[in-house]
Amino acid sequence: MQAQTRDARGLLLIDGSMGEGGGQILRTALSLSLCLQRPFRIVDIRLRRRKPGLQRQHLAAVRSAAEVGRAEVQGAELGSTELSFSPAGIAAGDYLFDIGSAGSTMLVLQTLLLPLLQADAPSRLVLRGGTHNPLAPSYEFMQQAFLPLLSRMGARVEMQLVRPGYYPVGGGEVRATIHPLQSLQPLFLEQRGAVRRLRAVASVSRLPGHIAQRELLTVAGALGLEPDTLEVQYEQRAHSAGNTLQVTVESEHCSELFTGIGQRGLPAETVAERVVQQVKRYLAAEVPVGPFLADQLLLPLALAGGGAFLTVAPDRHTPTNIEVIRRFLPLSFTTRELAADRWRIAIEKRSGESA
Ligand code: ATP
Repeated sequence: MQAQTRDARGLLLIDGSMGEGGGQILRTALSLSLCLQRPFRIVDIRLRRRKPGLQRQHLAAVRSAAEVGRAEVQGAELGSTELSFSPAGIAAGDYLFDIGSAGSTMLVLQTLLLPLLQADAPSRLVLRGGTHNPLAPSYEFMQQAFLPLLSRMGARVEMQLVRPGYYPVGGGEVRATIHPLQSLQPLFLEQRGAVRRLRAVASVSRLPGHIAQRELLTVAGALGLEPDTLEVQYEQRAHSAGNTLQVTVESEHCSELFTGIGQRGLPAETVAERVVQQVKRYLAAEVPVGPFLADQLLLPLALAGGGAFLTVAPDRHTPTNIEVIRRFLPLSFTTRELAADRWRIAIEKRSGESA
């Protein structure tokens, strides 16, 4: 059994600079602390990042988790590299969390989602901030890839995009209703099955339509998509300019989604080519779970007490997230390379222990 590291007061101690060393360590610890009602202290938060410590995005996760968990918190300040968090329950209810500018609403939602599934009544969240951020799950990724898998595990979560929020202005809004459940069911996702359909949606807000059209042209050429699987969306609701490209791969056993975010100075063709690379890698690997879903599925599977999936070669988020989860839960993880870019990740209870 792995020794659980504790601080001088006996509190579970998490090293925020381990492995990938980013904000996910903090968010996973917050979620697990709420779900298990277990206090923790985290040190060296994002120590090796260009701007170390808690940034607005991370503070928003801490504050919202503290509100939902009626938690006592120390160190929740901008730039802080240490934090202690002691929850006192999980309170269902109506919440409004304004992450500020374009901080990711989806990362805050992911922090709160699993704890609120354990509450004693439904919760309704209004989340304001960014909905389509580089390096974070997009609204559509959550809606089409992550939540359907959570729903297979028994969770009922409804989500609605009121208004997209793009970097750097943000101002987006997402509403989510989270219905509690007794317990999550394990998930086994070891086959993708036949690919049924690929489709691409390019969306522009306050930008010329040719950007979306050029993205779709590039994607269609590289992936051999038929015109009836391509869609241009003219987004009218956002407070600022923005552009996203989403390619969905619908297979027999799951859907995956790959996102490109347009940036000033980045040609539309480059945005599209980057998405194409991700899709091609996923298709070639013949696995159901892409690289982002892989690290995000670990937490629900751990709380369900088990499961397994096939995925591409994991990046550092996956082993790091596993390490954080292992600090909280007596689970055993197996990460095995089956072939080039084809891995199996399995989670199970340690024999003789209940998670
Ligand atoms: P830091 O700034 O310290 O890197 P962070 O909180 O912004 O921290 P990470 O810790 O890297 O970010 O976590 C980002 C999360 O967003 C991961 O779970 C990752 O899988 C997910 N993610 C990143 N890009 C995508 C994408 N294109 N689609 C879906 N999920 C994504």
